[in-house]
Amino acid sequence: MTAQLIDGNALSKTLRAQGAERALALRERGVTPGLAVILVGDDPASQVYVRNKVRACHEAGLHSVLEHYPASLSEAELLARVAALNADASIHGILVQLPLPAHIDAQRVIEAISPAKDVDGFHVASAGALLTGLPGFLPCTPYGCMKMIESISYELRGKHAVVIGRSNIVGKPMALLLLHKSATVTICHSATANLGALTRQADVIVAAVGKRNVLTADMVKPGSVVIDVGMNRNDEGKLCGDVDFLGVREVAGWITPVPGGVGPMTITMLLVNTLEAAERAAGAG
Ligand code: NAP
Repeated sequence: MTAQLIDGNALSKTLRAQGAERALALRERGVTPGLAVILVGDDPASQVYVRNKVRACHEAGLHSVLEHYPASLSEAELLARVAALNADASIHGILVQLPLPAHIDAQRVIEAISPAKDVDGFHVASAGALLTGLPGFLPCTPYGCMKMIESISYELRGKHAVVIGRSNIVGKPMALLLLHKSATVTICHSATANLGALTRQADVIVAAVGKRNVLTADMVKPGSVVIDVGMNRNDEGKLCGDVDFLGVREVAGWITPVPGGVGPMTITMLLVNTLEAAERAAGAG
């Protein structure tokens, strides 16, 4: 059996076209949805991510500004910029690209963002809303993974989902979103004993580790849904996920590729969150 591909590029195209319509509707009411992206330092990967985010905003008819500061920016200066953007009515979403230089307390900066503009969904208020099932901004990567599962009309209720990874930005929120859909959720991490014994029981596996070949064909139940969040480089320097794609696709029922899977969906959900923030601010949400 060869798994069906869940194509993040194709799904993103559809969702971004819907987003462009929402942006147009807002502009017709005199509100241009705006996203501010702050980048501190010269991390090459971060520079690519922020450029892609800003470009995707422009393509969908959103206003987006990139503020790029040297790595020497002080925490106080960054907090002052966040405060200014909080007060700027033309900006509905604020994203501070992580990682930040070591002398800046990233959590303090995230907590300084107004929860109403926390389109990355990393603020403790957003995390608390997710935990309790209240409305708030969902972190873009797990949100995108859920949209991918939704796109194949997969019924999560009563299914066993295994999330590999427990970070605050992917693993934990992913597990909560699956739980809210009434899946039975197992969260695995670096201290998990016999990962394969757990993943072999799973109907849905989300791999969010950051290591190649964490999930191989022998660890997967036939017909399962495999979502690969990982972003790694293979021996040839090419982008690859956490999943041994060629092996696992022969066993799984559905699988997301890397590249072209979760990556584009993450950016798409950032647009969706920014539109949501603008609609709420405009009283249309
Ligand atoms: P992270 O903060 O480093 O978390 C990795 C998690 O994997 C940790 O919980 C860790 O466990 C667990 N882990 C490490 N080795 C393991 C093993 N051998 N078996 C089971 N679990 C193991 O990373 P992250 O920020 O969540 O990101 C995970 C991956 O997703 C990275 O490759 C990142 O680049 C990628 N990512 C992609 C997107 C996208 O848009 N496509 C977005 C965000 C992240 P402990 O907690 O015990 O250390």
